Amino acid sequence: MFKALMLRKADDGSTQASIETLDTAQLPEGDVEIQVAYSTLNYKDGLAITGRAPVVRQWPMVPGIDLVGTVVESRDAQYPKGTEVIVNGHGMGELHWGGLAQRARVPAGWITRKPDSMSAWDAASIGTAGYTAMLSVLALERHGVRAGDGPIVVTGANGGVGSFAVALLARRGYEVHASTGRLEERERLLGLGATEVFDRQTLAEAGKPLQKEKWAGAVDCVGSHTLANICAQTRYGGVVTACGLAQGMDFPATVAPFILRGVTLAGVDSVYAPQALREEAWRCLAEETDGSLREQIACTASLNESIDLAQRLMKGEIKGRVVIDLA
Ligand code: NDP
Repeated sequence: MFKALMLRKADDGSTQASIETLDTAQLPEGDVEIQVAYSTLNYKDGLAITGRAPVVRQWPMVPGIDLVGTVVESRDAQYPKGTEVIVNGHGMGELHWGGLAQRARVPAGWITRKPDSMSAWDAASIGTAGYTAMLSVLALERHGVRAGDGPIVVTGANGGVGSFAVALLARRGYEVHASTGRLEERERLLGLGATEVFDRQTLAEAGKPLQKEKWAGAVDCVGSHTLANICAQTRYGGVVTACGLAQGMDFPATVAPFILRGVTLAGVDSVYAPQALREEAWRCLAEETDGSLREQIACTASLNESIDLAQRLMKGEIKGRVVIDLA
């Protein structure tokens, strides 16, 4: 038997979240059963747990788009019993029971080995957010952006992806400008490595198709007018990565920055990212993060606290990351 956060759809269509005790026989099909040490709360988990967006596509659902744990049963020789593993995305918490439970069962093809240099908590503190931030940094560099080219703007900077993006870029020598709705967290963002912190409101509303050139690159976590304005402010030949939709899913932009300034808009997806890219991202994360950074960004809470915390995440009240301890 094990404990899980379970989401059920009520007759009125709303999402009901509660902690339930389940039998391992109820777990979905998969080659590998994992004793989950930690999961985390990501924006998508907040949407699923509160029912604010149709993230869950099969009911009932255990949310949790990521997990870190130890293999307890395996039909795959690559991941024998005792292997410490990470799983991110692949539809966990959307189509397949996810990480906010003490047990999970997944196909072997979804698994990444936990880097030896990190503890299970370290890997969880990075989680999908840190891994997505690293995918964004790798995408900027794959498209030719280099430290020294000019400022890189990070939006949603106090969130999970944003906090890691600020720190990872700063550690690679970039000049990072952080956009946030929480200017009272300025010192926190400077501590993570930002050189400038500014009010997200300056990007939040409709702007001109081409604006004064500012950014050599961008990591955008919020979409909508913010992404459109950032594209309009990106320097000739610059690169904008888009991973999020915290402001909105819309993209009210023109093609002007792309056809007149050669700006590249690079999409970042963590859920179905190919295994080689996942491994590269986790290898870089193991080399470029340390205990003090992870502790600066992440805090730990219990499964019982996860429902309240998901509601606070949706209100924009959480700084950085929340690791859920499933022990
Ligand atoms: P968080 O909730 O931790 O952070 C989101 C941040 O966005 C907030 O902290 C806030 O930052 C900012 N924000 C919130 N509401 C608004 C708004 N209305 N307008 C502008 N900014 C806003 O979420 P995560 O860091 O986990 O995820 C960030 C985004 O990235 C989400 O949209 C998520 O779905 C997406 N994502 C995508 C992935 C992918 O594979 N493509 C993987 C992981 C996340 P501040 O207070 O600093 O303004």
